[in-house]
Amino acid sequence: MSLVRTAQQENQIAGGFPLKKVFPFTAPKANYHCDAAILWCFDNRFELTVRNFLHSLRVIHSDSIQIAGGAKCLASPDHDSSREFVLQQIRLSMRLHGTTRVMLMLHSDCGAYGGLASGFSGDSMAEAAHHRQELQRAADNLTAAIPGLEVQTYFVDFDGVWATHAPAAKEEPADSREQEPPPQFQAKASSSLC
Ligand SMILES: [Zn+2]
Repeated sequence: MSLVRTAQQENQIAGGFPLKKVFPFTAPKANYHCDAAILWCFDNRFELTVRNFLHSLRVIHSDSIQIAGGAKCLASPDHDSSREFVLQQIRLSMRLHGTTRVMLMLHSDCGAYGGLASGFSGDSMAEAAHHRQELQRAADNLTAAIPGLEVQTYFVDFDGVWATHAPAAKEEPADSREQEPPPQFQAKASSSLC
């Protein structure tokens, strides 16, 4: 049986309503094991940073949970329903794709926190310190709700990605091992959030 649908078959799929293919592309059909679920904000300025970061860690198959504020929804959601929604998405990722690892992320100048200028008076150090605590809270809440997960926490700014838990050696891309983290992350570098 041909894997290529005829125009007639595509019409039948839509119950007779004419479908028009506007972008031909072949997606893989095989199911996959999820390397990590990523809880992340939808701010597109950091999209390339995060994508390259995940690639550097060889996180190839990820379940991306993108919602305004990212890990804020687990730490300090505006509505409890946001936390429940995210937890349910993670549970679904576990059930459907065998996910055991969750990467929680926050980023600089996030509108969900009022932005860098308005929320932190332009003080990037204060913002980073605040977000480190938020990531801790998010990790604690996630672990309490779903025990047994491997939880990793990251702060993303305009210079790159910073681990706010103690990263395993395998997490560090080779070209960043010589780079010192900013002071607010150095101070507690030996403590793990999860
Ligand atoms: Zn954001």
